[in-house]
Amino acid sequence: MSVEFTEDQIDAGRRLFGGPSRFIMGVAALDQLPPSEGVEIAFAGRSNVGKSSLINALTGVNELARASNTPGRTRELNFFNVNERMTLVDMPGYGYAKASKAEIKRWQAVLKGYLRGRPGLTRAFVLIDSRHGIKSTDEEMLQLLDESAVAYQFVLTKIDKIKPAELEEVLASVQAAVKKHPAAFPVVHATSSGKATGIAELRAEIAGLL
Ligand code: GDP
Repeated sequence: MSVEFTEDQIDAGRRLFGGPSRFIMGVAALDQLPPSEGVEIAFAGRSNVGKSSLINALTGVNELARASNTPGRTRELNFFNVNERMTLVDMPGYGYAKASKAEIKRWQAVLKGYLRGRPGLTRAFVLIDSRHGIKSTDEEMLQLLDESAVAYQFVLTKIDKIKPAELEEVLASVQAAVKKHPAAFPVVHATSSGKATGIAELRAEIAGLL
């Protein structure tokens, strides 16, 4: 299902992200979490899905999500303030073969604790590389979100890298996954950070959560 946004909605998205965004803090353990204030959204996805690029494209701040990719911060929840109106959380990229079992376990506990205990967390955006579709590591994240009763929404990334027919195919497969997951929101966003495709619509979607 695709969706069209009205001029007003697009404008609300533009205004939300038109102001300054800044890094607040990185959190590696539950007792470090900042208080849950106002509307919070989170971004999740496999490593290299294009999460930093998308956060940069949304906020217009090129350096913003770089913090999340610097060594030592890759296993942290990174909190950003968007225009003093919303909190954006960059969740660490998953699917890294490098992590040890113990590390993965510890991380899952932190993620679970965060996802279950966050009253302001309004929606998680699960990024899917449009070239690859949903992988088994994504399914693990979806299961965690389902169990935590966090509403989530799929965002396809890097659609400039595929042909229109391939986009139709991956959209259909993601929409089939939506049907299997009750916590998944039916609208799937298709984006390219490189070409700025779908960014205004995703901003509008996010502004609608306020
Ligand atoms: P992250 O690990 O999920 O934060 O991914 P990055 O944002 O660092 O992106 C991973 C790679 O994909 C980088 O080489 C980016 O340049 C590339 N990339 C990200 N978004 C796009 C996009 O929309 N189009 C194309 N062609 N490449 C992209």
